[in-house]
Amino acid sequence: MQIIENIQTWKEIRNALNKTDRIGFVPTMGNLHPGHLSLTQTSRDENTCTLVSLFVNPTQFNNPEDFTHYPRTLEQDLDLLRTAQVDYCFIPQAETLYLDNYRYQISENLHSNDLEGACRPGHFTGVLTIVMKLLQIIRPHTAYFGEKDYQQYALIEGMTKAFFIDTNITLCPTIREPSGLAYSSRNNRLSPQQRQQAEQFATIFHQGNSCTQIEKDLSQAGILVEYIREKENRRYAAVNIGGVRLIDNYQFSLRSA
Ligand code: AMP
Repeated sequence: MQIIENIQTWKEIRNALNKTDRIGFVPTMGNLHPGHLSLTQTSRDENTCTLVSLFVNPTQFNNPEDFTHYPRTLEQDLDLLRTAQVDYCFIPQAETLYLDNYRYQISENLHSNDLEGACRPGHFTGVLTIVMKLLQIIRPHTAYFGEKDYQQYALIEGMTKAFFIDTNITLCPTIREPSGLAYSSRNNRLSPQQRQQAEQFATIFHQGNSCTQIEKDLSQAGILVEYIREKENRRYAAVNIGGVRLIDNYQFSLRSA
């Protein structure tokens, strides 16, 4: 696997690729787990080369504490990517990505203010801006995103259509621990007791009860609920367990209850 720290280096590699090569791109913030690796596997299955980016994007954190405590495990991530036979790993510096000091931003004015956007002002503007920059640099044929962050996927997919970006956006299913808890880098910040609560969160959220009942059951389990909502045949949840925010969602229709 080739590690790329410099935009120019990637441009040269990209220009030297064959016309028939297909580039798959998996943007991540590192601290990799089986959810991320399922995206790299899908990319490997569908492309001739796969590039993973590792970048903890400061502009999408509305809470500076969350940014400071976000787990950073570079050497472990590189080992996992090598084992997963990823071809390129892009590790940019914030200064080179934000030469404009974040003066230029991509924002969406409807869905980005709901759900995660309502709880985390500015979050999706940070996400859309960094993804736009990365898509312009990498110029992949396909980019892969997880259903775990469905609202993010939908906004990115909409952005690529709105700006005529020549990259397919592919959605990959949420990968879960045996308990049903979705893998997340934030799970690593949970104490053993908080982890039990996180697993309870997954169980209660997937029981198929009404949103009001789910909210009651979570509160009874001592879990702080930010939202439990249904929107366009999908159920979304955000909870806060000891200062760690966890989100989840799944497709839902009354018939599946
Ligand atoms: P992150 O590093 O959290 O920014 O996530 C990078 C990508 O991995 C995003 O497209 C996420 O939706 C995806 N992802 C994170 N967790 C999971 C999971 N448990 N299953 C599938 N995809 C995931």
